[in-house]
Amino acid sequence: MQKRKRVLVKFSGEALSGNNGFGIDTSILKFIADEIKSLVTHGIEVGIVIGGGNIIRGVSAAKDGIIKRTSGDYMGMLATVINSVAMQEALEHVGMEVRVQSAIKMEAICETFIVRRAQRHFEKERIVIFAAGTGNPFFTTDTAATLRAIEIGADMIIKATKVDGVYDKDPNKFLDAQKLSELTYERAMDDSIKVMDDTSIALAKDNNLPIVVCNMFEKGNLLKIIEGNLENCSIVK
Ligand code: UDP
Repeated sequence: MQKRKRVLVKFSGEALSGNNGFGIDTSILKFIADEIKSLVTHGIEVGIVIGGGNIIRGVSAAKDGIIKRTSGDYMGMLATVINSVAMQEALEHVGMEVRVQSAIKMEAICETFIVRRAQRHFEKERIVIFAAGTGNPFFTTDTAATLRAIEIGADMIIKATKVDGVYDKDPNKFLDAQKLSELTYERAMDDSIKVMDDTSIALAKDNNLPIVVCNMFEKGNLLKIIEGNLENCSIVK
């Protein structure tokens, strides 16, 4: 039997908040759930990481010095669990089998991350959502997503964003920003580009994990990319 493709899709927490800028917009959850469902029905094994920026980020929480950065980061990790449980519901709503695995033990809410157990879920065509980041402060969910992608042996990590790829400068600020369809890990670490934080890019580079950046709101795009059509994205490799 041909080996099934396995991917890790990373969504930012902010993307879930829609126009509100905070909280969770269930119509966006539903949109994402339908997109992920189409991957699973095409025989793709899917792991998901969701950020927590729609609820809280450690750096912002600790800005005025009242909350310590480490506590702020744990609050951020808890925010990713809230988003993951919401995503689990949306995926179940469209008929998928899903498990949330947290890097921090929370047995009343979800499973604890165990890579072998995650592998078994994939074999049984279940989606696995990896919550609570890496379980450590001073990291990001991009790093957590890269780490999990490597641990589960994913073929690629897809960073699903609001833009259609990587630009040589911020396309929201510069009209002459050029899209880069393919770039090296080194270029991706350039200050003007910053696809993800340096820790996650370095981890991807060391393990030859391709990073794809695409627009999450373009229907059918994730499936096209995984099936090899890279027109509507950028790839770091
Ligand atoms: N976080 C952390 N360790 C991790 C992952 C996340 O401390 O391994 C915290 C950190 O405070 C971060 C917050 O969780 O700001 C939310 O994650 P992130 O900012 O990556 O979310 P996104 O920007 O993708 O919504």
